Amino acid sequence: MDALRERTERLGIKADTATRGSIYLNGNVLDAEGLADEADARRRAGFEVELLKPAAVKDRYAIAGRHAIVGFGNYSADPRQLAAGYLNVAIDRGARLYAPVDVTDVEPSNLGVLVHTDQGRQISANHLVAATGYEMMKGIPRKGNKIISSWSIATKPQPRNIWPTAAMIWEANDPYPYIRTTPAGEVICGGEDEEISDAEERDAKIDAKTRALSRKLAALVPNIDAAPVHAWAGSFGDSAVGTPTIGRIPGMANCYAAMGYGGNGITFSMMAAQMLRGLITGYGDGDSELVSFHRDF
Ligand SMILES: Cc1cc2nc3c(=O)[nH]c(=O)nc-3n(C[C@H](O)[C@H](O)[C@H](O)COP(=O)(O)OP(=O)(O)OC[C@H]3O[C@@H](n4cnc5c(N)ncnc54)[C@H](O)[C@@H]3O)c2cc1C
Repeated sequence: MDALRERTERLGIKADTATRGSIYLNGNVLDAEGLADEADARRRAGFEVELLKPAAVKDRYAIAGRHAIVGFGNYSADPRQLAAGYLNVAIDRGARLYAPVDVTDVEPSNLGVLVHTDQGRQISANHLVAATGYEMMKGIPRKGNKIISSWSIATKPQPRNIWPTAAMIWEANDPYPYIRTTPAGEVICGGEDEEISDAEERDAKIDAKTRALSRKLAALVPNIDAAPVHAWAGSFGDSAVGTPTIGRIPGMANCYAAMGYGGNGITFSMMAAQMLRGLITGYGDGDSELVSFHRDF
């Protein structure tokens, strides 16, 4: 997160970015004791955390009856502006963007990679990074990845009703909701994840999921107006153990992939950028074996 924040700042990309704390509440996955263990594990890993009892959570954030781990230094952004900002910087520095285009085939060789598109065009490159999200290209091992659909709502702007620090809120629950704010004071609440890969089936559930998310939001943060003004759904690739797969694609020379970020796209995409830069330039990356195609989990 620090690396993404620093680079975005250095490049002057405007994307409604904000550094926020986080509030992680106990639920059916972690009870109060489980949350305390989680806080210890995070401390041992070097993260600054605060473990709060229900009275303190109520006092500080007006959330009733819950234990919480408070975290610091998280990052939020408008993902479309952020992605567009990075693409524009790359184009300014000489990158060529081919879009819209569907890659239909890839011919790897020891000299480079030839990419075939649906428009009959061929693009040649020294290296290929397949960052195709949940739509995995043929020839790439799946590593147990599956497609998850997720739903979101956004409320009207209500800056005066936002809880102190505007920290992101989520629960140790399955299914979990997560809540964040925008700089204008809109509240975004998402979650209700299900293993659905069919877009029509996913979108048919938008009305029901919108009602469920609005109910959960109102129950969790009673001081805000939880009526949805926008509602949407999307899908992402997720792995069985929550670990992304990043690295050289076995059997495809000069080809790399980054996939299976789950709901942690903002964190894992930056990790992938750093690791793949290390692998492609030959400097390497000390952590890359943890997420490589060769790991055995
Ligand atoms: C509703 C929702 C809310 C989310 N909220 C959060 C959040 O709060 N925080 C967070 O960190 N993550 C969140 N995520 C997860 C995050 O969005 C994903 O993990 C992330 O976008 C995955 O990034 P990616 O680059 O791998 O794939 P994508 O963002 O899916 O991009 C892949 C791109 O590749 C293109 N593509 C695919 N196949 C081809 C092909 N053959 N030829 C050419 N182009 C191709 C696609 O069109 C697409 O543009 C959320 C996801 C959803 C759906």
